[in-house]
Amino acid sequence: MLYPNLSVNDAGHLTVAGHDTTELAARYGTPLMILDEAVIRSRCRTYKGALERFCPAGSLPAFASKALCFKRIYEIMAEEGMGIDVVSSGDLYTAKAAGFPLERAFFHGTNKTDRDIRFAMDSGLGYFVCDNAAELDAIEAEAARRGVRQKILLRLTPGIDPHTHAKINTGKVDSKFGAAIETGQAEALVCAALGKAHIDLRGYHCHIGSQIFEHGPFCDAARIMLAFTADMARRHGYLAELLNLGGGMAVPYVEGDPAIDYVANIAAIGALVEEVCTGHGIKAPAILMEPGRSIVADAGLTLYTVGSTKTIPGFRNYVSIDGGMTDNPRYTLYQSAYTVLAAGRMKDTPAGEYTVAGCCCESGDLIQENVPLPALSRGDLLCVLTTGAYNFSMASNYNRVPRPAVVMLGKNGPYEAVRRESWEDLVRNDC
Ligand SMILES: *Cc1c(COP(=O)(O)O)cnc(C)c1O
Repeated sequence: MLYPNLSVNDAGHLTVAGHDTTELAARYGTPLMILDEAVIRSRCRTYKGALERFCPAGSLPAFASKALCFKRIYEIMAEEGMGIDVVSSGDLYTAKAAGFPLERAFFHGTNKTDRDIRFAMDSGLGYFVCDNAAELDAIEAEAARRGVRQKILLRLTPGIDPHTHAKINTGKVDSKFGAAIETGQAEALVCAALGKAHIDLRGYHCHIGSQIFEHGPFCDAARIMLAFTADMARRHGYLAELLNLGGGMAVPYVEGDPAIDYVANIAAIGALVEEVCTGHGIKAPAILMEPGRSIVADAGLTLYTVGSTKTIPGFRNYVSIDGGMTDNPRYTLYQSAYTVLAAGRMKDTPAGEYTVAGCCCESGDLIQENVPLPALSRGDLLCVLTTGAYNFSMASNYNRVPRPAVVMLGKNGPYEAVRRESWEDLVRNDC
């Protein structure tokens, strides 16, 4: 089994954290997202512990909300002492509604509106991660109006290509995010920030991409960011106290993907930070990281009910499910690999290879192709593993499909963290 919380019981049913998936599906309906709370908490502790142990004082992981966002997640992040990164006022509103201490929140995004900036400051946001000069002016103006100094980090692009998928590769010079070091625009943004009376510049941020398996690209990014830090100290007398290295550590999705040693990666990054700062003769900044996927992806799985199977002679077999791109658009977007299991027939031998097709009126609505599965019939259960990140948070109501329920497996048993959307929910805002 891909993950240690998965097993097969005597009935041949897939279990997760000791719970029979067929019973969960019967109790809560499908499509259903299941999250193992213990995995989420344990990954938070791994990051937090390693950053405290191997990186300078004040280092902290901030959960990247875009991977998975609803109130219960923020309660867990608050309990685990994590920071959070938010990308919209909607994320921030959700965190606030969950009672998350927003001084540990970092507000990202390439276009924060004046309304976003006002709402964030009203809510007691810790840090804006400022993307560009126009936004810097807007934050300064709002802070001046309030007579406060607002903490910010500057989003910079170190010019790194971590060889991941182009759509999740964000640290190159040609990027919609941030200001490039290479072009001098990063330095100009630092000077602009230092010249503003109501801006409290605390450091720099970069994010090089996602689903990165080794620590090498993070070390390369840190090296460039620290050289820039030393440069700014020398030329402008400004020494950053925080360096945010973004998210991006990988998770195995299929058998054969390498296992990731998060602690070893963080230890290597911490050692490099120390060494490079000593070389530059500067005090090492505290290190922030923003893991999203590696906190929640492998805590999650999705259960679907099979409708029909279809064989097109000479072509392929299809199995259709009661969800699809509306709850998991990642195969449609990126051809992402997933492990698909026949959750109620784990002891049956494969009868062939199947294309798992979603229920939307869209030929690209597939979850996976070439999946070995036993002969399935209407009512059988399919399970897609590793759906905790970028599934529910990317879910849509395309074809007016309601979003699934999210059930957490907590230490006192399963509980609903997000109710299934109803048909009434779908028309709630229609005038
Ligand atoms: C997407 C993103 C993250 C999280 O990336 P993961 O690959 O999910 O860890 C963190 N920070 C920023 C700025 C991002 O855009």
